[in-house]
Amino acid sequence: MKFLLESNLSRLAKWLRFLGHDVKVLEGEINLRELSKNQDRVFITTSKRWEETLKKADIRYLVVPRHDWELQLCMVIRHFNLRPELALNRCAYCGAELVPVEKEKVKDRVPPKAYDTAYDFTLCPRCGALFWKGTHYEGMVRELEKVLGRC
Ligand SMILES: [Zn+2]
Repeated sequence: MKFLLESNLSRLAKWLRFLGHDVKVLEGEINLRELSKNQDRVFITTSKRWEETLKKADIRYLVVPRHDWELQLCMVIRHFNLRPELALNRCAYCGAELVPVEKEKVKDRVPPKAYDTAYDFTLCPRCGALFWKGTHYEGMVRELEKVLGRC
């Protein structure tokens, strides 16, 4: 799905990208001009006072609670019936689609300890971030399970 998130939802943005969704984050305050430019996206916000405006402007939206990214993620997954699986095909920082890269080519960017056990290396063509699966991946799977139990 395509989402537009309020600027205070960066943690949620990261996780929705982990699940494979196209996520854009607003840079400043909420403003109708920016929202109208992104009508093809569902707007996720913590601001209830914008509801009337959003309804009038015919912008699809969901209000989530503040300061609790686990509950936010759980609510978005349930509300839109998203597949609760880690796709890990998008950059967590900028949202671009990742491309596979050979482990040997990025050896100098990976801590030696991780290098031995890590697999599935991918590179972000837009911002250059490097990702791989390793012990942290198991942690993310457990984290997601925990999140799904929150709502
Ligand atoms: Zn990136």
